[in-house]
Amino acid sequence: MISIDKFKFKNIRALIRVDFNVPLNENFEITDDTRIRSSLPTIQKVLKDGGAVILMTHFGRPKSNLQSVKLGAEEKYSTRHLLAPLSEMLGCEVIFGDDCGSEPTYKLAKNLQSGQVLLLENTRFYAEETQGDEEFAQMLATLGDVYINDAFGSAHRAHASTTQVAHYFAEDKKMFGFLMKAEVENAEKVLHSAVHPLTAIVGGAKVSDKILILENLLNIANNIIIGGGMAYTFIKAQGGQIGQSLIEEDKLDLATSLLKKAAEKNVQIYLPVDSVVADKFAPDANSKTQESNHIDSGWMGLDIGDQAIKAFSEVIIQSKTILWNGPMGVFEMEKFSKGTATIAKKVAEATKQGAFSLVGGGDSVAAINSFNLQDDVSFISTGGGAMLEFFEGKKLPGIEAIKSTEPEMPHSAK
Ligand code: AMP
Repeated sequence: MISIDKFKFKNIRALIRVDFNVPLNENFEITDDTRIRSSLPTIQKVLKDGGAVILMTHFGRPKSNLQSVKLGAEEKYSTRHLLAPLSEMLGCEVIFGDDCGSEPTYKLAKNLQSGQVLLLENTRFYAEETQGDEEFAQMLATLGDVYINDAFGSAHRAHASTTQVAHYFAEDKKMFGFLMKAEVENAEKVLHSAVHPLTAIVGGAKVSDKILILENLLNIANNIIIGGGMAYTFIKAQGGQIGQSLIEEDKLDLATSLLKKAAEKNVQIYLPVDSVVADKFAPDANSKTQESNHIDSGWMGLDIGDQAIKAFSEVIIQSKTILWNGPMGVFEMEKFSKGTATIAKKVAEATKQGAFSLVGGGDSVAAINSFNLQDDVSFISTGGGAMLEFFEGKKLPGIEAIKSTEPEMPHSAK
């Protein structure tokens, strides 16, 4: 596989799949431009070398096609809204392609000069995108001389612009962008070459979302800390009384079997000994601390308690590698944020002492940011679903398509 750092883009048109799926307000203004900024180094590298850039991204979840956008419907999903802010960030004019490959757009791409940037319309205005349609992918591939995938957040989808398109480029003409490269290298570091002890901290609302990741973590982790709403299914599975806490009754057997497997594999599982419980799910609820397996009926566990914080902190501080996915409680409500905030601080402290820490998954990233600790962990993953699937041990199609040495399509590899 070739590396973007070593590639010289002079007079080369790079077709780059980015993830510019940023939130907009009602005036079509970007409210958080992190995703765009994350891919600037990749774009700037091509431009600095003297190449040209063709950008493609999905944007929201449009239900209709390009035609309805032209008629005014679903205009909110047009990547046109990104043109001005992107031009400003790059410090150059960005040309807009009205679609993803009509003759005029093809000509725009073909005639791009060194230093120019072309932004294509939303790839999801084509049903062929999510279908991973080969013809559509092949058409996209005609737009550039090389293909760069910098959209880690979409790497778990076998869509036309994230996966299939790569099959039409030879091994020496496709690569990861800087963002994608960093995501893959850091995740692989935890999965395949972690310094031990490795502690995984898994939290959030539902066990069902985290079953596969927990199963896979049993193969690599020394310690697994389970917090958040999902912990109560495990506590109930062990015979605890959990009051009105979150429970997935149909996952009780699975929780028992995960605990059994952990014991067989000598992986230490840490559940919260105590919880901050509330009489309703609200910021102004009455609260008290109780043992997690003796919660009064009518009360629900919304955060880990002080004993749990202490026990979890001791494990974290002795770890050399830390993977964190999911909050320890309802951190969005101040009254129930102490557990997540303290665990975030401990992860930062362990990092300062030399541990490698990777934080990923939407809510844990939101938590780290809300406590202003984003610069105190080793790496923050931008890919929610993709990051989860990576740690579930799955092969992500977007990554595999770049790594594959043989173009898989029988025809027309460049
Ligand atoms: P997830 O998307 O599965 O990582 O879940 C994140 C959400 O879980 C956050 O919005 C938290 O507020 C919520 N959460 C964490 N702990 C609890 C809990 N003990 N009870 C209910 N919700 C929780």
